[in-house]
Amino acid sequence: MIRAGALLALALAAQALAADAPVHHVLTLRFEPAQRTLEGTDRVTLRAGGPGAFKLAPGLAIVRLVVDGKPAEVGARGGRIAVDQGASHEVVVEYRGDVVPVPETADASGPVAGTDGSYLPDGWFPTFGGLFTYEVTIDVPDPQRALTPGRLTSETTDGARYRASFASIAPVAELPLFAGPYRVSERIHRGWRLRTYFDAGAADLSDTYLERTADYLDLYDGWIGAYPYPGFSIVSSPLPVGLAFPGMTYIGEQVLRLPFIPATSLGHEVLHSWWGEGVRVDGRDGNWAEGLTTFMADYTFTERRGEDAARDQRLAWLREFAILPPAEDRPLDSFRGRMHTASQATGYHKAAFVFEMLRDEIGPDAFATGVRRFWQAHRFEAATWKDLEAAFASAASRSLTPFFTQWLHRPGAPRLGLGDVASEPARVSFTLTQDEPPYVLGVPVTVETAAGPVGRTMYLAETARTFAVDVTAEPRTLAVDPDLRLFRRLDPAEIPPILREVAFDPTAETVLAVSDPATGTAARELAARLFERPPTVAEAPDGALPPRAVLVVGLTDDVAALLTRARLEGVPPALAGKGTARAWAARRGDRAPIAVVAADGADALRAIARPLPHYGGESFVVFRGAEAVEHGLWPPGASPLRVSLPTRSPR
Ligand SMILES: [Zn+2]
Repeated sequence: MIRAGALLALALAAQALAADAPVHHVLTLRFEPAQRTLEGTDRVTLRAGGPGAFKLAPGLAIVRLVVDGKPAEVGARGGRIAVDQGASHEVVVEYRGDVVPVPETADASGPVAGTDGSYLPDGWFPTFGGLFTYEVTIDVPDPQRALTPGRLTSETTDGARYRASFASIAPVAELPLFAGPYRVSERIHRGWRLRTYFDAGAADLSDTYLERTADYLDLYDGWIGAYPYPGFSIVSSPLPVGLAFPGMTYIGEQVLRLPFIPATSLGHEVLHSWWGEGVRVDGRDGNWAEGLTTFMADYTFTERRGEDAARDQRLAWLREFAILPPAEDRPLDSFRGRMHTASQATGYHKAAFVFEMLRDEIGPDAFATGVRRFWQAHRFEAATWKDLEAAFASAASRSLTPFFTQWLHRPGAPRLGLGDVASEPARVSFTLTQDEPPYVLGVPVTVETAAGPVGRTMYLAETARTFAVDVTAEPRTLAVDPDLRLFRRLDPAEIPPILREVAFDPTAETVLAVSDPATGTAARELAARLFERPPTVAEAPDGALPPRAVLVVGLTDDVAALLTRARLEGVPPALAGKGTARAWAARRGDRAPIAVVAADGADALRAIARPLPHYGGESFVVFRGAEAVEHGLWPPGASPLRVSLPTRSPR
């Protein structure tokens, strides 16, 4: 229950926030997705000191401009309004124009429209830059539905038109518009209006999405602090995207259908309503929001499946980092946002790992307190890594500057070595080493003894230091960081081959193992998705593969024949005959990585082109149609950080 005083305080805070934005839009828009035309009237209040220029997206043009009651002129798509910026002004912009069609492939950067779905990220109304508040009314022909982020204040369907109005919750820097032939499903949960805007073909997924969304809101509302928006909408897109906005997410219709999305990515996008939207990224010292969201969503869901699953996740992230091209290994304070998969290895995964180490370092209680303090201090503001450091340091009652400095400002990761191992009946001694300049690390060490494991944390701040662990029973093995709790550079022996090793390699070539042109096209498309660029296709006469990273893709029998000619192992026995397509990673005699994709037909190949890149962190994956029915890692080799201790014969 909320006390009246608290409600009043909230209302006052909301008013103060609205008053703070330099620009307020009252916008009405008539939008025709079939003709791809729009017609808008924007009544803008510019507060004293606010911006004095605006622009519209290409294709749109001003019909009439009135500033403080008088007709005014700027360029066709906007410009500077010649008025005194020290005073406030009322500006009315009437505009209209065309929007380009939704592209066949690739993401849209500007507004795109069509009857299957329209996405107008920006420029569809006079954009002044900076923060603004808004009231928007959108009018589209039935059965189209349209929305923006914000509170739904009215909604009608009369005659052949659908009309909906939205108002801002807090100042925003961007306001996208979405429309499509959506069926709207709604559920009210704890007063939050949860909605799916799915096309008819995906309507059967609504219940699952609404249910999971309610669970995620409950989880984070309890963990971080009160959910700041009046509801949450999941909107399907004809584009292959996964985007978060205040109180909503926009997800590609094909992505929505992937079976793991409600249990993983949906939670990630919901959590962005706190991290990234509720607290915005200041950006001066990098983007902290993806790492914190990945840690508190994706990684948390993995941890719920057990310690083994969480360890596998950490191994996957370390392995991905180990194969990252050096040019992609940038410090976290330079990460802005995900541009391609390789930037995910640091900006998402290394950053999430840093939060995992931080929780180990200060303990789960202080970590939870830090998260809540950060939210309370910066809700509806932009914040930096430095602000996060301050919140966690206050929760832990100690400085965390050395921790944050080494993990944010340095690229790379420590490389640990183990030497001088000696064991006595009641003691094991050893030397830990790391490269210059040293990190300050709490290195977990486990001694397996006849009476069970003995775990210790060793504080290593030098390039070499000798330690001893006392035990009460015969020591058998010594293992350094056996649970992979440190973000470190793995030894090659600790790294099983994974599919992404080839996908990340800029010199990698593709060899097609196909006997007909239709399959060849499907194989090239798959390669383009895996590499995120057009593939370099190489010939393999007599089965001689290029002496570098290679992707072999084709039909099962053709692939098997090609591997035989190349004198390589065929389909791994663990995968043979399973599903409709298999992909696996291996290393050749010269250590060059190879990824193989073998499908039972052109359709089977086409079906996996989109889901396959999601399994880049795996050694193998088996698909039935588009569904991954089995995936995993080959067992790693022996780690040089694990040593068997000599057994003593009893005297
Ligand atoms: Zn994200």
